[in-house]
Amino acid sequence: MAKRNKNITTLNSKIKVLFLSAEVAPLAKVGGLGDVAGALPKALARLGVDIRICLPGYGLIDWIKYPAEKIINQLSVPAEDKEDKAEIIDVWLTNLPGTKIPVYLIKHDFFNSKNIYAGDRLILGDKYTRLADDLKRFVFFTRAALETAKKLNFKPDVVHANDWHTGLAADFIKTFNRQNAFFSKTKTLYTIHNLANQGITDSRNYMAEGILKADLINTVSPTYAKEILTKKYGAGLEKILKKRKTDLYGVLNGIDTDFFNPATDGFIKEKYSLKTLEKKSANKTALQKRLGLKQDKNTALVGLVTRFVRQKGIELITEKFSGLNCQFVFLGSGEKRYEESLSDLAKKYPDKFKTLIRFDEKLAHEIYAASDIFLVPSRFEPCGLTQMIAMSYGAVPLVRAIGGLADTVNHKTGFIFKKYSGAELYKTLNKALTVFYKNKALWRRLKINGLKQNFSWDKPARQYLKLYQKLNKPVKKHYLI
Ligand code: ADP
Repeated sequence: MAKRNKNITTLNSKIKVLFLSAEVAPLAKVGGLGDVAGALPKALARLGVDIRICLPGYGLIDWIKYPAEKIINQLSVPAEDKEDKAEIIDVWLTNLPGTKIPVYLIKHDFFNSKNIYAGDRLILGDKYTRLADDLKRFVFFTRAALETAKKLNFKPDVVHANDWHTGLAADFIKTFNRQNAFFSKTKTLYTIHNLANQGITDSRNYMAEGILKADLINTVSPTYAKEILTKKYGAGLEKILKKRKTDLYGVLNGIDTDFFNPATDGFIKEKYSLKTLEKKSANKTALQKRLGLKQDKNTALVGLVTRFVRQKGIELITEKFSGLNCQFVFLGSGEKRYEESLSDLAKKYPDKFKTLIRFDEKLAHEIYAASDIFLVPSRFEPCGLTQMIAMSYGAVPLVRAIGGLADTVNHKTGFIFKKYSGAELYKTLNKALTVFYKNKALWRRLKINGLKQNFSWDKPARQYLKLYQKLNKPVKKHYLI
């Protein structure tokens, strides 16, 4: 085994990757993008990849908990895509917590605010964007990250860009190469974490440019990679995705199994594992007590932790659910209409529903640990991490068979419904509750099957490494003779 690892390290030690992301957990996270950017680089580093991350130096980062040192003072970066207008940045260096992976933090007034996204989301039918300020901030970040690599003389084999925020990386590299050969050997991989979130200005769509200009593209589950080629799930970009179909891959996300592990989780009341599964219920009664629900380990607790946006199927949960024999705990924030509908349920039926409107990492872990059933009724879902986290905590997922949910949950590990409708969700939840109350042996098997799944990043990281290697294969030259 040791020999094999050594070989992998020697083989790939030359691959250098600059990883660009608007979120990196635990430094700055809103959703799954942050989780992926905080965990995938660790698994790639274990495979011997020289990976370095670039992240905006947000005001919200806990600079005391994650100390950083200034490594570049006053670097000039062309702004707004114009070579003659420059802004000045400083670059600070920290490590991805618990690792030696460098994280370059780009400091500029643009990123001083206490929020990752400065403005609201703009909804345009089945796709969305951000206000002009945010578009400007992330385009600037992308350019600044490349200027930082150049200043540090770090010539990456691959720039790995993620989502619309860094969609212009491939375009910038092409501009760079017209003036200067620094990135002449650099290839780009563009990962689509959520196609609906596009970054649209009057004249450009950054998601589309990432798709068209990167050397290779991937998305975060095999099923979603197929779905986005259709009109129904392509969010208006299905035609350009079809053009790049042979360069489009689906790599299923993993989860950070160090951070989401009930055997070592410092956030939860009682740690447990497959062997001590009976201790899980102490987490349920502790949460029931704290939230003012009736304390009863025999009552099913149904959890939901998510961003409250159209994608997540919140609207399928209606007043009718108050008739089910269970308790619900909802954690999330986002669009007012969903915050209000779930808060109204909690006001009207305080014994049944608890709704907590905020982002709260500790409470999220407590809900995973306390839940018997975990809901993910998404309208569409590129991969989804919460169903995998739930299974790792012995909570049985109830999901819609879509995107990455279809790739990670089956009848041996959870409950699945197909049609996007409240009645289907209700019916499936009712079925799950019947098994919970009436068939203890089957319930236990479902939990154990979930706990035994391997959702670590090891396998996906090998698939990403293969994509990096593919990008760096020497192109065969055809000589005319
Ligand atoms: P998305 O990327 O669409 O938000 P994912 O399922 O891929 O959805 O990832 C969601 C991640 O964000 C999970 O780690 C989940 O626990 C976390 N999360 C979502 N909402 C909250 C919240 N309100 N508080 C704490 N963690 C949250």
